[in-house]
Amino acid sequence: MTDPRPSLSDKKRRELFLMHGGVCHLCGMKIDGTRQRWEVEHVIPRSMLGKLADTDDNMKPAHVDCHKVKTAEDKGNLARAVRRQDRHTGVHRSKTPMPFGRNSPFKKRMDGSVVRRSK
Ligand SMILES: [Zn+2]
Repeated sequence: MTDPRPSLSDKKRRELFLMHGGVCHLCGMKIDGTRQRWEVEHVIPRSMLGKLADTDDNMKPAHVDCHKVKTAEDKGNLARAVRRQDRHTGVHRSKTPMPFGRNSPFKKRMDGSVVRRSK
C-alpha cells in the first residue's frame, strides 16, 4: 500500500472526467465541478492491482466525500481478505484455539476422555 499514486495532470483529469460522463461512479450522480470536490479514483483499488489499476477504465471520477467512504471500506475488505487467507494457509495461529481443536494441546477422544495431543 506504499505504492505511490501517480499524481494526475489537469489534462488527464479532464480526459477521464469527460470519458466517464462527469458522473461519480460511486453514487452515480453528476458531478458539479464548480461546487463539488471530486477526484479520480480507482474502481478496483490500487492496493489489489498495483500498477495494473492505472488504466482509463479503472480510473473514474468520484466525489471526494464518496471516495472517503469507499477508501475506508476497501481497507476493511482488504484486511479481512488477508486475515481469511492467513487462516486458510495456516500462517495465522489462533491465540484462542478451539477447545480440543487442531491447535489445542489436548484432544478429546470419541469416548469423551481427554488426552494430550502427541506431536
Ligand atoms: Zn458521489
